[in-house]
Amino acid sequence: MKMKECKKFVNFCKTYLNVPKAKVKIKIDKEFHAEDACVHHKKGHKYIITLGSIDLMDNFVYMILAHEMTHVKQFELDGLELYYKGRKSRFNGQIYDIDLDNDSEYFSAPWEVEARINEVPITYYYNNR
Ligand SMILES: [Zn+2]
Repeated sequence: MKMKECKKFVNFCKTYLNVPKAKVKIKIDKEFHAEDACVHHKKGHKYIITLGSIDLMDNFVYMILAHEMTHVKQFELDGLELYYKGRKSRFNGQIYDIDLDNDSEYFSAPWEVEARINEVPITYYYNNR
């Protein structure tokens, strides 16, 4: 997929998820596994989404971006704060004592569950808009 297509999709997500102020940059890091991605919350409304590759099936890239954009929405609107090394995270006004380095705790965190739930429907809405 082309970077231009990724940016178009991210803009769709900003509208869909109601985060017009978010400024999102997309980076590709060849050190990442091709299917891995993360989002980094910089200052204010600035975010960087890092992807391992965009040379994957279109819908797969969309699903990855929908996931990371859901995290952007959580930072913007749901008070998501992620703390590692034994510090507690926050989400929707609640404090979570989740070890983010522990895979099973990480995957069952409510913000990860919501991000995974959004992957398919956002991709579907984009393709059928
Ligand atoms: Zn996630």
